Amino acid sequence: MSLPQNRPGVFHIVPPVDDGAPAPVVFDSPHSGVAMPAGFQPAVPDSLVLVSADTHVDALWAAVPRHGAPLLAAEFPRSFLDLNRAPEDIDPVLLDAPWPGPLSDADSVRRGMGLIWRYAWGDTPMYADRLSVQAVWQRIDTYWYPYHAALADLLDAAHGRHGAVWHVDCHSMPSTGHRLSPDADGAHRADIVLGDRDGTACDPGFTDFVATVFRRQGYETRINDPFKGAELVRRHADPAHNRHSLQIEINRRLYMDEVTRERGPGFDRLAADLDVVAEAIVGYAAAHLPGTR
Ligand SMILES: [Zn+2]
Repeated sequence: MSLPQNRPGVFHIVPPVDDGAPAPVVFDSPHSGVAMPAGFQPAVPDSLVLVSADTHVDALWAAVPRHGAPLLAAEFPRSFLDLNRAPEDIDPVLLDAPWPGPLSDADSVRRGMGLIWRYAWGDTPMYADRLSVQAVWQRIDTYWYPYHAALADLLDAAHGRHGAVWHVDCHSMPSTGHRLSPDADGAHRADIVLGDRDGTACDPGFTDFVATVFRRQGYETRINDPFKGAELVRRHADPAHNRHSLQIEINRRLYMDEVTRERGPGFDRLAADLDVVAEAIVGYAAAHLPGTR
């Protein structure tokens, strides 16, 4: 299987183990990167840049390649450039000049969590100075497009081989709602939140299947509440043509200390359970290929 080439500092791909046919499944972890990009000059310490990172999510899903699916992971912080936003989701107040291209009116931008985050966290600004249009464009060109191209290549390769592909977009969430989030400050969150954009990003049967696998393992699991999935599952999904995308949010209280960011005592058990989930997803995909239903 030929894979897109890794780009150090941008993304890497853990290839599927080579012991049989590759699965029609691709996993990606867009927010687990913690490497500070060259030239990035936030006004806050690294620890604040990384508050929004989905720390350890790539490691939690490390078993994925053993089941025949590649795992694509970004290496840079989410707040530096958010791969789960569209390139038009630019916050004009960050810029020292008007943006020459189209701009969206996305709610995420209004909350300061657009393509490039306005705040590191809460109401603490990420930058002391405005960014140049050129610098923002370079950031998009160097980080956003190559990652999405690599994901598209992986999905196209699997779809070309099998006639269908299941894309699993892996994230984590703070244990409760906060002032930047769509749910209320302090709101209780389930262990697992699956997002299929209200049934439009994948066959709802797939969402229900994954929810059942998690619930069987004892995890409180909600669907599209409060996270429905964003740009990654929107852009790469096309269920009418057998391209299914599902976002999985894992509650950070299950596996890490949200203050120190260190792995917690629950990490190993959760990783073992995700191994079972990955195996089940690959099994579901194999059983739902066109012509096998
Ligand atoms: Zn995320």
